[in-house]
Amino acid sequence: MSDARVGLVIEDDHDIRELVRTVLTQAGFDVTVASSGAEGVLTAKTLNPDVITLDLGLPDIDGFEVSRQIREFSDAYIVMLTARTEELDTLIGLESGADDYLTKPFRPRELRARIAAMMRRPRSVPDPAEVSGVEASADGQAHPERGNYSHNGLALSYSSRTVTVDGAEMSLTRTEFELLHALLEAGRTVRTKSDLVRRLRDEDYDVGGYISEADERSVEVHMGNLRKKLGDSPQKPRWLQTVRGVGYRLAPGEH
Ligand code: CA
Repeated sequence: MSDARVGLVIEDDHDIRELVRTVLTQAGFDVTVASSGAEGVLTAKTLNPDVITLDLGLPDIDGFEVSRQIREFSDAYIVMLTARTEELDTLIGLESGADDYLTKPFRPRELRARIAAMMRRPRSVPDPAEVSGVEASADGQAHPERGNYSHNGLALSYSSRTVTVDGAEMSLTRTEFELLHALLEAGRTVRTKSDLVRRLRDEDYDVGGYISEADERSVEVHMGNLRKKLGDSPQKPRWLQTVRGVGYRLAPGEH
């Protein structure tokens, strides 16, 4: 057996399944496919994959439920593939457990970029009890530029990957955490949606990479979820201020 990373493709459409299989194989994954939700859950249990692509519209169980079931035993990266941009709206507020969303049709390089960016992020969130007060990251090096932030009752620690609001710990997805960190880092400077898409892809992809409308919509969905989890109001934001038609920035400090 090689120690290649394991990918699982859960998709009922043959052509898309083979396309995704090809993308993952080229990215160095050992790929297994499943054509229904039930088969996908079982396969995930057996294989313990690193990455799962999950079709939202499956013939037996819908993608949300499949994701929820997989999340009970797996911390694999899950990319949800949805049929239309509008479907992203229904994802807002739903705790699907997916790390990222991609709208069909998508470009193979788009999927490749998303997966590469996800694989570079820390895979598991450490237990905050074990790392509280520790200023170094997992590699043992301090990253003062990616340190601790606090703003209007919210505190984020990059090294321990934790966020608290008025002392209560928040459970954020990796993507939500990265977006929040990007805004805290920028302060009152506006981050455009394109900036944030690039941020999620990491700097490697900041080389004139193509940013689609779907990429920007995906950022909007994640921001919507983040806002909901933090209990932030779009009208009177404590943290996430929308700059219409441009992007987002940190709301002013409370006095
Ligand atoms: Ca389908």
